[in-house]
Amino acid sequence: MPELPEVETISQQLNQHLPVIIQRVRSTIGLKQNILKTPLVKLQGKTLARIHRKGKMLDFIFDDESHLLSHLGMTGTWLIGTAAKLTKHSHLILEGLNSKNEKITLAYDDPRRFGKMYFLKNDQAVTKLNTLGLDLIDPHLNVEYLKTVLQKFPDKLIKVALLDQKYFAGSGNYIANEICARAGIRPDRPIKKIKDDDFTRLHLAISQVIAPALASGGTTFQGGYRDSTGEKGQGKNHLVVFYQKICQLCGKTPVTKITLAQRGTYYCRNCQK
Ligand SMILES: [Zn+2]
Repeated sequence: MPELPEVETISQQLNQHLPVIIQRVRSTIGLKQNILKTPLVKLQGKTLARIHRKGKMLDFIFDDESHLLSHLGMTGTWLIGTAAKLTKHSHLILEGLNSKNEKITLAYDDPRRFGKMYFLKNDQAVTKLNTLGLDLIDPHLNVEYLKTVLQKFPDKLIKVALLDQKYFAGSGNYIANEICARAGIRPDRPIKKIKDDDFTRLHLAISQVIAPALASGGTTFQGGYRDSTGEKGQGKNHLVVFYQKICQLCGKTPVTKITLAQRGTYYCRNCQK
């Protein structure tokens, strides 16, 4: 599933092509949960001004302050370009003109169709985005925030808590695994056993995980994420425990795999306590 680094990569790539005046809309909208009941022809004639991101949600902002919120689900991406390659999984296709008067195609592509879209007015979009907590790379997400939020759930396991989008928007399974690894904390440690120093390490670990993943254009796993040009991200090279046989921190211990909250969980019993 695309997590913060992947969604941010797509957002940055799409913004390079904006603004785009939408001239034609085609849709199969074969998404499993189609929230886009509004006739999409409404997008025609609007200018897509810019795209923001909060957590894993992309926020397409139009010139009339309407918003298209797009969550990529498991396998979603937005392809864009003067020659965007459409596939049989392109469920929503927006065609228009950029500021150089070139024809631009913007297509939502999602083989497994778990993506979600919401077409909303400005105040509705704000309300929806406010259900998400601080973005993982929001500067306000400091040690104090981590501590205050996590200590509300003393019995929760740290990795499970880190997945909660109400507090840590943009995290996901690989990010949460890797944050625990970089912080030296076992993913199944209950929060009540996390000490002051650990919170500092956890905070540092967030940027240690996100920065290289972003610099690599996101992380692609088997059959997964593609960016807006259809390319894979190279973030896999920076993983230390997730999908690894040997821990890349100590370089010698076989990685232990367990299941927490139904998600594959990886850690090094040498490096993480
Ligand atoms: Zn190790």
